[in-house]
Amino acid sequence: MQFETIIGLEVHAQLKTRTKIFCGCSTQFGGPPNTHTCPVCLGMPGVLPVLNRQVVEYTLRMALATHCTIARESRFARKNYFYPDLPKGYQISQYELPIAEHGHLDIAVESDSKNESDPDAEPTKRIGITRIHMEEDAGKLIHDDRRPVSRVDLNRTGVPLMEIVSEPDMRSPAEAGAYLRKLRSIIRYLGIGDGNMEEGSFRCDANVSIRPVGSDRFGTRTEIKNLNSFKNVEKAIRYEVARQREILLDGASVIQETRLWDPAAGRTNAMRGKEEAHDYRYFPDPDLVPLVIDEAWIAAARQALPELPDDKRARFIDQHGLPAYDAGVLTASRDLADYYEETVKRCQLPKPASNWIMGSLLGLLNAEGLTIAASPISPHNLADLLTLIDRGTISGKIAKTVFEEMAVSGNSPQEIVAAKGLEQVSDTDAIAAIVDQVWADHPDEVARLKAGNQKLMGFFVGQVMRSTKGKANPKIVNQLLAQKLAQ
Ligand SMILES: [Zn+2]
Repeated sequence: MQFETIIGLEVHAQLKTRTKIFCGCSTQFGGPPNTHTCPVCLGMPGVLPVLNRQVVEYTLRMALATHCTIARESRFARKNYFYPDLPKGYQISQYELPIAEHGHLDIAVESDSKNESDPDAEPTKRIGITRIHMEEDAGKLIHDDRRPVSRVDLNRTGVPLMEIVSEPDMRSPAEAGAYLRKLRSIIRYLGIGDGNMEEGSFRCDANVSIRPVGSDRFGTRTEIKNLNSFKNVEKAIRYEVARQREILLDGASVIQETRLWDPAAGRTNAMRGKEEAHDYRYFPDPDLVPLVIDEAWIAAARQALPELPDDKRARFIDQHGLPAYDAGVLTASRDLADYYEETVKRCQLPKPASNWIMGSLLGLLNAEGLTIAASPISPHNLADLLTLIDRGTISGKIAKTVFEEMAVSGNSPQEIVAAKGLEQVSDTDAIAAIVDQVWADHPDEVARLKAGNQKLMGFFVGQVMRSTKGKANPKIVNQLLAQKLAQ
């Protein structure tokens, strides 16, 4: 039987505010345990939470960037449960009336069917966003490996989170990965969070089910937790799909439950039965007034939005004449897009700049584990390198050597070319002498070339390049060899 995979994702993104969501405590990571706490986030009796305006502002930006409908009035609710890292015995979240609903974002997908009217257009798929709401984070339990002791650190209690719930619109692990990358990219563009999955500031739970192809009813889903990297999200979904498939093919039923991904073992394990919303006894938090967002606030937030990935990508195609693929890679992060535009501004060579950044530069950064912001080669120097190639001062091959040298020394390409004598030889007489020499040294090859074996042209170009240590202008070499052949 053929099955179809159904995936919905819940993402918790930490918002980069200076203080917590309902008190003035610092959100700074890494302080000594329980030093960033006060009576409010410790859940002392008689204290009152006060909503941090910046949390609303940031969530509003995200909601607008993902085309959500903004609630003019939303509410905070208490989600009741007991756990030692939750001193109040409830988490303040939004439930019935979240700040935003009914949004969407588009992801690039693999497709066999090319758009005939525009073969360059990459196929995209729209993923629905059910809702976005604000809530507070819980504390952290630290378990002692050697003794039966657990400690509680409440520094994280009350750190602001934005939960983004998707529709069950994804049909493969790759689509789930593409959705998460897009979401993170938007969060980073907006500057409202750092979206770091490994450090826990961008967490994802996946709801996964399968159903026979053609069925319009959803199968029973399981929720997978503990997904701490993009790679693990895709792996865990793949594992879970295979597990559910086996159960269904055996004639048994999938149990609705929460499962924990074990990255070391590469499997999911049952954690607990899935709790329903009514288990939490949600009710409006009487300590917080309804949140009212007026038109002026929405208009101001919309005004303050930066150019977002989709718009930037479209502009790169339009303004710089880039293929859709290049534009997609270069706008995946705002820093990378800025780097590209700074380079092009100086050298006015949009496509070569794209090629060098996507190829050599990203290759270098990957190998060194560096971000674009920490690139050892500045946009200024890369632009100058491209100009040297464009003017014929150095060949493309020599440019690779200069690039490597720039990465190590940080020197300008002009300095490196001058110091190492790498300038391209465009002196026709000098090259002609070498062509004559190579011609004389290889009579057999000359005979075969004259007999019509055109492939040998490459051999002769190679020989001339070798004897000039790659510095001969390839255009002149080709011209001279063609003349020689015609003689
Ligand atoms: Zn506090």
